Amino acid sequence: MNLTEVFQQEGKRISLSIPLDEQIKFEKKWKDTPLITLKFSNLEKGKVLMEGKGEVQFFAACDRCLADKVETVSLDFERELFSPDISIDEDTREEQYYLNGYDLEIPLLLQEVLHMYWPTKILCKEDCKGICKKCGQDLNVAACQCDDFVPDVRFANLMDLFNNSK
Ligand SMILES: [Zn+2]
Ligand SMILES: [Zn+2]
Repeated sequence: MNLTEVFQQEGKRISLSIPLDEQIKFEKKWKDTPLITLKFSNLEKGKVLMEGKGEVQFFAACDRCLADKVETVSLDFERELFSPDISIDEDTREEQYYLNGYDLEIPLLLQEVLHMYWPTKILCKEDCKGICKKCGQDLNVAACQCDDFVPDVRFANLMDLFNNSK
């Protein structure tokens, strides 16, 4: 997407809605069309404020019990962009690597933003009890009879110590 106009025209604003699924590949299935709104506002010549917002949903499984769920990720970000003819320090230039000359590489930007907001854990509910590793019982539904005592490694070492001293 070419940003020459918004970089050069004072007071210029552009707003657009971008379907995420047309920009990046995703191994899971989106629920509805994931839309991101991008707004560009000229702050001064060569300097643009970019604001992005969106709420995207996709089908996923709980990390603990594998139950199906729809996960929602809310995106809300703001960046200042500097045109190539403005002198800025090296670090700032590198940070906006998704800006190639006057062209915004939307897929690169979106990948970074998604990465930033991606949930570290997907859970059906905060306190999901998961599945018993021995019998496969969904522990949210009922407890099982398995002995779920897993000795702590430090504790196990201590036990060895005692056993050896006998
Ligand atoms: Zn779960
Ligand atoms: Zn069990």
